[in-house]
Amino acid sequence: MPERLPMLYVFDLDGVIYRMDEPVPGAVEAVRRLKARGDSIYYLTNNSSRTRDDYARKLAAMGIEASREEVMTSAFALGQWFRARDAAGTGAFVIGESGLREEVTSAGLRIRDSAAEGKIDYAVVGWDRAVTYAKLAEAHRAVVEGGAQFIATNRDATYPDAGGRTLPGSGALVAALATCTGVEPVVIGKPEPFTLQLILERSGRTPGECIVVGDRLDTDILIGNRLGARTTLVLTGVHSESDVDCAPEEWRPSDIIPTLRELP
Ligand SMILES: [Mg+2]
Repeated sequence: MPERLPMLYVFDLDGVIYRMDEPVPGAVEAVRRLKARGDSIYYLTNNSSRTRDDYARKLAAMGIEASREEVMTSAFALGQWFRARDAAGTGAFVIGESGLREEVTSAGLRIRDSAAEGKIDYAVVGWDRAVTYAKLAEAHRAVVEGGAQFIATNRDATYPDAGGRTLPGSGALVAALATCTGVEPVVIGKPEPFTLQLILERSGRTPGECIVVGDRLDTDILIGNRLGARTTLVLTGVHSESDVDCAPEEWRPSDIIPTLRELP
């Protein structure tokens, strides 16, 4: 019998590995089992509010050993996007939390809180629980008057809150700036291909060796399908089997499993 080739598993986090701060039952054991048999694991999240180290620590607290290299966030990917463009030394206005601001700074950009501090080349929008009208107005001015390029970490409409409730996601803030400026942003996170392309590059794997596991059809499954990876919908988060029935072709997963325990 031919030996099974080690695969690259790319897991979404919220709704797949944990819900808020609680591990999803069976998830920790499933990840450990894949690691023990030699598969590679990456974690891919659109959440831009925390750093890769924050996520590695959160996973460790749940009993999953993960290095920062195994975590891909839309904020880290944005930093790589800036590096690929030699954007060090340019100015950015940021609507976003500490994880995003850290990544922008570590890519060498100067964060400017207003045009009075210097030229703003990029208006960056991510999830920001302290967003204000004044911040939106500054970003609006930077794009409309200053010619700044509008970059969004992701367009998730909502963010999961406790008890199955939701909060406005960064997509809501992105929509506000897109509406007032009339400009559509460059989007870094899922379902745009960039974050998964980075994972494939960094891991040296091909899409044929990659399985994307997520709870959302319009982000997790779509990004995997777009790049030609195998896709698995796990029913512990946002979307259900009946959502698959009425989803467009591009959103349909290769496999559907009730929990990560059923991962082959
Ligand atoms: Mg999710």
